[in-house]
Amino acid sequence: MSGQVPAAPKAGNPPAAPAQIADMPLEVIGQPGVPFVEIETLRAREFIPAAKEALSSLLKEQAEGKLIRPVFNWAGRNSLFPLHWGLACCAIEFAAAFGARWDAERFGVVPRSSPRQCDLLIVNGTVTWKVAHKLITLYEQMPEPKWAIAMGNCATGGGPFRTAYSVVPGVDKLIPVDVYIAGCPPRPENMLDGILRLEQLIKERGA
Ligand code: SF4
Repeated sequence: MSGQVPAAPKAGNPPAAPAQIADMPLEVIGQPGVPFVEIETLRAREFIPAAKEALSSLLKEQAEGKLIRPVFNWAGRNSLFPLHWGLACCAIEFAAAFGARWDAERFGVVPRSSPRQCDLLIVNGTVTWKVAHKLITLYEQMPEPKWAIAMGNCATGGGPFRTAYSVVPGVDKLIPVDVYIAGCPPRPENMLDGILRLEQLIKERGA
């Protein structure tokens, strides 16, 4: 389209028919050489994607906050994956909890062998300074959100070896702990109780 202004009809000439008026070039507003209609089209082309993006981000935020997040919280707390890892005598109780008698898997708790597939670290034994950096590495390899349980007196505060030069006096000196389970060793029922308390904690934090 050209930006020329239509010439005024000369005196004595008949006025243009409606079809001819529609074919006439439009008057330039603002920028010389760019018809008004084109400017409006360009504005619309920019506005529609911007409006779409704003609307979809608003919907996403609403969905995450009010629909998706509670579902994720519910699913996460009912399918905890602890790391398949044992440190000392408490690990025997940990293993027993997954046997036929106590059947921890009925709570959705399934031990996995890779920290990258786990969201729960159950520290079930004496933590020595020699193994401390390995424990921290394993915890850091777990994806968020993640939780930790100190199972037994050794993991909670050093237990009977608290004063030994080689023993960490509580695993919370190395990583954040969400639930502590007392006992030397705690029974499998105590471990299951600790897991149920952790599920309640996750529910409260996610609310
Ligand atoms: S708390 Fe008792 S049973 Fe558990 S690892 Fe320590 S010494 Fe062993």
